[in-house]
Amino acid sequence: MDRSAELYSESKQLTPGGVSSPVRAFAPNPLFIAEGRGSKVVDVDGNEYIDLCMAYGPLIAGHACRRVMDAARAQIARGTVYGAPSVPELDLIKRITTEVPSAEMVRLACSGTEATMHAIRVARGFTGRDDIIKINGGFHGTHDAALVNAGSGSSGGTPSSKGVLADVAKHTFTAEYNDIQSFSDIMDRHEIACVIMEPVMGNVGVVTPEKGFLEDLRKVTEEHGTVLIFDEVITGFRASSGGAQKRYGVTPDMTTMGKIIGGGFAAGAFMGKREIMQNVAPQGGIYAAGTFAGNPVSAAAGLAQIDLMCSGDNYAKVEMRTAALVKSIRESMEDSKVKGCVNHVASMFSIFFGIDRATNGTEAMKADRQMFDRMFRFMLQRGVYLPPSAFEVDFMSLAHSDEDCGVLAERFKEFFGSVKQ
Ligand SMILES: *Cc1c(COP(=O)(O)O)cnc(C)c1O
Repeated sequence: MDRSAELYSESKQLTPGGVSSPVRAFAPNPLFIAEGRGSKVVDVDGNEYIDLCMAYGPLIAGHACRRVMDAARAQIARGTVYGAPSVPELDLIKRITTEVPSAEMVRLACSGTEATMHAIRVARGFTGRDDIIKINGGFHGTHDAALVNAGSGSSGGTPSSKGVLADVAKHTFTAEYNDIQSFSDIMDRHEIACVIMEPVMGNVGVVTPEKGFLEDLRKVTEEHGTVLIFDEVITGFRASSGGAQKRYGVTPDMTTMGKIIGGGFAAGAFMGKREIMQNVAPQGGIYAAGTFAGNPVSAAAGLAQIDLMCSGDNYAKVEMRTAALVKSIRESMEDSKVKGCVNHVASMFSIFFGIDRATNGTEAMKADRQMFDRMFRFMLQRGVYLPPSAFEVDFMSLAHSDEDCGVLAERFKEFFGSVKQ
C-alpha cells in the first residue's frame, strides 16, 4: 500500500483529513482507488478487492456497468449541462413516478443532502410549522436542520457539529425508531411540520422496521397533520423497485432519493403528493433551485441503472445472493461462538458485534467498534473492502457473482475463526 500512503501524506496537507468526506478516512491511510469494475475495486498499488462498500450505495448495478456507462457516454457526447429542461430529466421523472407509490410529482436535485434540505423546507412551507422530528441515529445529509443530536426530555435537539446554530437545532426533535410512543409524545406536545426518517435505517448499520411500526407512524402523522417524509436516499430503488415504501406497503407524503437514481453520478430528488409539491417554485412560493439540478448525464445514467435493475428478476437475484451470504455469515459466527447479530434486507446487511439485537439507533450504536476494526483490517488484507466504519452498511450489487459470494463467505468464516483463537 506504499503508493496510497504516499498520496495520502500529500493529500493530508491540502484537504482536511486527506479525504473529501470524513467516513472515507481510516488509519494508517485510506486506499486511493484507481479503478472500479463490476464487484471489484483496484487501488493505486494494484491490489484488487471485492467491494462491499460500493461507494455507500449508488452502484446497485456494480462499478462501471456497461449499460449505464453507455447511456452516460451517449449523453456526454451531446453536452453535459444546459440550464434548460431536457428529455433525460423527464424520462427519469416519469420512471420514478411509475415505480414509487408516493411520487405524484418529482423535483430533481444534485445530492441527497439537497433533497432532504428541500423536502424539510417544503414541509415547513406547506404546514406553516417550524418544528420537525428525526430519528435517533438517522442521517439526512449535512445541512443544519439534520446535524442535530437528541435533546433532553421533550426539548428540541442540540447541534452535532460546531457551526450549527442552537437556534436551528432546537427545532429538530428526536424520537426512537420502532417506538411509536416516542413519536406521538412529541406530536401531542408540539406542532410538528414533518417527521423525516429512513424507513429502513442505514446509517447506524441496517435496522429494519418491526411489524406495524411504519403503519402506526403513517396513522399518527396523519392524525396530527404532520408531513411524513421517508428519506429513501439509500433504500430508493434498493429495498425494492419502489423503495422501502413499496416493500412494506406504507406510502409517505413525501420521499427523498439520491444515490442509485444518479447511476453513479451526483443526483438527488424530492417528491410527493401533488397537493404538497405544487407549492414548490416556480409553481408555488417554496424555493428550491440548482445549476446542476436534473443534470442530463446523471439522469441518463440513473435511468439506465434503474431500467437494468427493473428488468427480469434482477432485484430478486441480488436479494437471493445477499440472503445466502448472510445465512452463511450467521452460521460461521455461531460456529465460532462470536457474539453478535446480522441485520439485513434486500441487498444490504450489517454485522453488529457484542450485541444480540439492533432494533433502533441506541441499540445499534452499542455494537463493539474494536471488533469491527479487527474485521475491517483482516478483510482488507485478504482482498475484501468493507466500508471503513462499524455503522455503515455492506452493499451488494448485481455484479457480485455467486463466486464472489463464495469467497466472501469463506473470508468472513476465517475471520470469525481467528477471533475464536
Ligand atoms: C447518503 C444519505 C444522504 C445524503 O446524500 P448525499 O448525496 O451524500 O448528500 C441523505 N440521507 C440518507 C439516508 C443517506 O444515506
